[in-house]
Amino acid sequence: MSKLEFSIVFLFISVIIWAILFFALFCAFIAFHRWMSGWVAGPAYRGLSRGVLDSLPVVSFAAEHARKFSECPICLTEYSAGEKLRVLPVCCHGFHARCVDVWLVSRASCPSCRRLVVAPAEGLALHKELPV
Ligand SMILES: [Zn+2]
Ligand SMILES: [Zn+2]
Repeated sequence: MSKLEFSIVFLFISVIIWAILFFALFCAFIAFHRWMSGWVAGPAYRGLSRGVLDSLPVVSFAAEHARKFSECPICLTEYSAGEKLRVLPVCCHGFHARCVDVWLVSRASCPSCRRLVVAPAEGLALHKELPV
């Protein structure tokens, strides 16, 4: 192997090693960033437990609600009499219970206005009781 060939091979191997190192560093950075944002953002990035979810008020849709709620912002279907609506206590936004429950098990914020569904103190308690 000539000196030139050796340098080319050496350069090639170092480039590969650096590429792997940078990729590993990049992955570590992304993982760290996700972990940090989950930690700092707190309860909004965690879902509600079943107990908290069940404590949120549910109303059965009736004609008198039509003034305030017309269609579900999640599935864009108009409410019909007797359907279960979950009305979020902080912002009073209403959704089909079946639609919003799917959202709330992964996010503790309102899908319309992103306000926390529960008070921060409750949210923090909630944070602890959730399984990892
Ligand atoms: Zn819906
Ligand atoms: Zn809302």
